[in-house]
Amino acid sequence: MRVPAVAAGVVLSLTLFSTPLAMAQTAPPASSFRPGRSPSQPIDAEYTRKIKEYTTEPFFLSPLVDYLPASRTVPTPSVVLGDIAGAPNKLPYSKEVYEYMRLLAKASPRVKVISIGTTEEGREMIAVAVASEALMARLDENKARLSKLADPRTIGMNDAEAARLVGLSTPVYYITGTIHSPEAGAPTALMELAYRLAVDESPYIKHIRDNLITLITPIVEVDGRDRQVDLFKWHMAHPNDTWPNLLYWGHYVAHDNNRDAMGLTLKLSQNVLNTYVDWKAQVIHDLHESVPYLYDNTIGDGPYNAWLDPLVVNEWQMIGWNNVQEMTRLGMPGVFAFGNFDTWSPGYLMFMAATHNGISRLYETFGNGGSAETLERTLSPNETSRTWYRQNPPLPRVRWSLRNNNNYEQTGLLVSLSYIADNKRLILQNFYEKSKRSILKARTEGPAAYVLTGDTRRPGTQAELLRVLQKQHVEIARATAPFSVTLPIRAKRAGAASDSAAKGISRTFPAGSYIVRMDQPYSRIADALLDYQYWSPNDPQKTPYDDTGWTFPEGFGVEAVRVTDARVLDVPVERVTGDVRAPGGVSGAGAVVAINHNGDNALATLRYRLKSADMVAAEEPFEAGGRKFNRGTFLIRNAPSDLGAITKELGLSAYGLAAMPSVATHPLRAARVAIMHTWINTQTEGWWRQAFDFMGIPFDYISVQDIAATPNLASKWDVIVFPPAGGSAQQIVQGLPMWRNPMPWKNTPETPNIGTWAQTDDIRPGLGWDGLKHLEEFVSGGGVLVGAANTADFAIQFGLATGVRSNDAGQTRVVGSLLRSRIVDETSPIAYGIIDSLAVMSDDGGSFSVGSTLGGGFRRFGEQGGRPTGRGTVNDPDVAQGRPALDPRFELPPTTPVESWQLAPIQDDQMRNPLGIIPPDQRPRVVLRFTNQRDLLVSGLLGGGSELADRPIVVDSPRGKGHVVLFAINPVYRGTTVGSYFLVLNTILNFDNLNAGRKNEAR
Ligand SMILES: [Zn+2]
Repeated sequence: MRVPAVAAGVVLSLTLFSTPLAMAQTAPPASSFRPGRSPSQPIDAEYTRKIKEYTTEPFFLSPLVDYLPASRTVPTPSVVLGDIAGAPNKLPYSKEVYEYMRLLAKASPRVKVISIGTTEEGREMIAVAVASEALMARLDENKARLSKLADPRTIGMNDAEAARLVGLSTPVYYITGTIHSPEAGAPTALMELAYRLAVDESPYIKHIRDNLITLITPIVEVDGRDRQVDLFKWHMAHPNDTWPNLLYWGHYVAHDNNRDAMGLTLKLSQNVLNTYVDWKAQVIHDLHESVPYLYDNTIGDGPYNAWLDPLVVNEWQMIGWNNVQEMTRLGMPGVFAFGNFDTWSPGYLMFMAATHNGISRLYETFGNGGSAETLERTLSPNETSRTWYRQNPPLPRVRWSLRNNNNYEQTGLLVSLSYIADNKRLILQNFYEKSKRSILKARTEGPAAYVLTGDTRRPGTQAELLRVLQKQHVEIARATAPFSVTLPIRAKRAGAASDSAAKGISRTFPAGSYIVRMDQPYSRIADALLDYQYWSPNDPQKTPYDDTGWTFPEGFGVEAVRVTDARVLDVPVERVTGDVRAPGGVSGAGAVVAINHNGDNALATLRYRLKSADMVAAEEPFEAGGRKFNRGTFLIRNAPSDLGAITKELGLSAYGLAAMPSVATHPLRAARVAIMHTWINTQTEGWWRQAFDFMGIPFDYISVQDIAATPNLASKWDVIVFPPAGGSAQQIVQGLPMWRNPMPWKNTPETPNIGTWAQTDDIRPGLGWDGLKHLEEFVSGGGVLVGAANTADFAIQFGLATGVRSNDAGQTRVVGSLLRSRIVDETSPIAYGIIDSLAVMSDDGGSFSVGSTLGGGFRRFGEQGGRPTGRGTVNDPDVAQGRPALDPRFELPPTTPVESWQLAPIQDDQMRNPLGIIPPDQRPRVVLRFTNQRDLLVSGLLGGGSELADRPIVVDSPRGKGHVVLFAINPVYRGTTVGSYFLVLNTILNFDNLNAGRKNEAR
């Protein structure tokens, strides 16, 4: 039986953190304002009639939303929609939603619309503020007070002053709608909610309006919303046809847009966080649709994120259980708050509040998958079972309408807003306490700071990491003098007793080192991103909902030292203003300019910025001009005159050399690149496209159908990058079933928001046999194909990567973990500049095996050397009885053990007819492997590990004149694996010289 962890959590927190709180004793209890209309205010009879008509069962309504108050001056959503919010078959575009919100703001002094930025495709994002006239008139004064509570340093951490400010201030509750485009109900629910909050004179709503500022972003993923409406309208116009999934939501990613709250690579993440921080809001409440009928993920399930103040965890319990209680009181079935998703990863949009001293909340309501039709819905038994946390479960079979969804969303939100209005003093007091404790953290639980050393070998990547923190509104300081701190001696093994007697070791950092101090209001997000994660294989939660490890410094390949020694807080520093940038420029003069290959991704940017420049790569390390240069160093002859300005801008340090160093080189070319996608799933490849765009690596964006239609691929491209695409190898070739009707994904007057950058008349055909043939000819003729995860499997299964096999993790458990790698062949151009022991992102523990022969010769698991069972000790020979002792001429020559990442040597017996033996120059070349089992886990979950330890993860497989480069890991993932991007970039820049440094076996 599952222990009700909630009650235990509350008790624990009260015991450990008995900070006196200004309880909201003066606030009237919620029950004093009964939900329901004011008898003295007329209702909009027609609108109200339609609410009841479009709601499929009376118990899917509540007294909060079963009527609409009338207003002579303020328009209802029907002026724009032509019907009520949640009407069947009507999904409004963003333009209509915004038009209504602006009409509302024009008609009511209680509403204000603010533009909060634009999307990748230039569409506007807005926030709508609703509160009483009195509160709206003093928004700035209120914000000034909230700013002081948000940064208690500004009031000298004075609790009495904070209490005074709390008494004068009004909290801000930020609601965000439809980040997930096929979860389409929120915009209409939020249009109507804004109207109710502005117009309704019932005591319940007036209480909210007078005590709370409600902030609403009705559409978070605006690009995806408009495409979803296009698609739904297409479906309505072609009712007898099958219709495509929403292939592209945002410009880059689909469902993963709700995993960007760490890396903040998407405009929607940046715009929502900036709005939350600017308004000093106390809550982000994000609206989703999947689970029937309303699952309040505010409580969720364990494990909880380990970097949050326990106060917020208690707030989740209070608010979540109140939500269930009040909606249960209203008789609405299927409302629950516990279970389903763990609350470990801080990657979700709502988590921006939790990691910035606020309260994160998320609803899953029930929807019809992006359709506004009213549909018969059948639920599975696990969705309808009665459990201790879901006493009134959803019904097995009902008709479900968009209006039902809007009723649940609005009722839940109003119940929540009412609770915060009732408890505003407590919420604001907690906001202050959490902010203050985030500052005190440096000297209480620690660490005191993270230090990123000023003499890093990778200043560009270090600056990129620090800019992520800056986007998170974290303050960065820079030491103005060298300093020393004491670091603890790390325990040698996990679980080993900590050596408290050890004195620790002293480490000195140079002037210019960056210090991320933990005595600042937003220390928790910095701590959560820079620290390590450990998810125990014994955790009762067996199905982590998302990644279990994300340690940013490891994923970036940059050191960030966790410092608990509080002396670091006394180091003289200057606050960094403006974006952190690596120093750059050209020093010295000479015929040749050298830029060390340190793995900073800006090197690839430079190659494409100076497209016609003459650049070569050094195939060996060398010394010149008193400096050491790595293998792969860029050497530029006849440097263009703007090299100084460009290297300065890109943060690259270049050095003039008197002459070309005497070292083997080969050309570094700006290869012509295509990124290939399927029409089945485009999410994971979107992160690759985004990374390439950010780095300024130009590429053609093509589909598998383009490959099928292009016989001579080499005439257009040098490198075809096929990022993870979803689906099996067969599905990549076959595509979708060809029965029924064609399904266009095309920019037409009927679907004007579908991008012209990726379109087809029919998404069903896959790569096909023609496409496969074209790919094979492309590679054999000298092209390079890059595959990762399932697209690497595709290449292997269709015979494009001879001698490579992919393995799943067997009994080993990995769920989105960072694992340690080792470089196998540092002479491979793919490894240039890559740090040894880089942490790589493994989704599920996949790896490769390599062999020198077809159809066999792969090492198997557990195939170890050593002697068999027999006489004597382990080092003695066995002795067969009944025959003379073995003559040495019958014995095998001594062999060296073959490691998991090595090719087994060819045996004499195999050479008698070497048909199945891969010619030496065509055998796979292992570039990177997982490290040994003991050192494998960097961050997250690793249960076991023997099935993948030491195994190859990056393999260069030659084919004819070309190469297939295979990744078992995902090197370009969610903007968080910046340290492994160059494995891909090297492949591109050295595409016609990947054999550099290669040593072929004699036979
Ligand atoms: Zn969702």
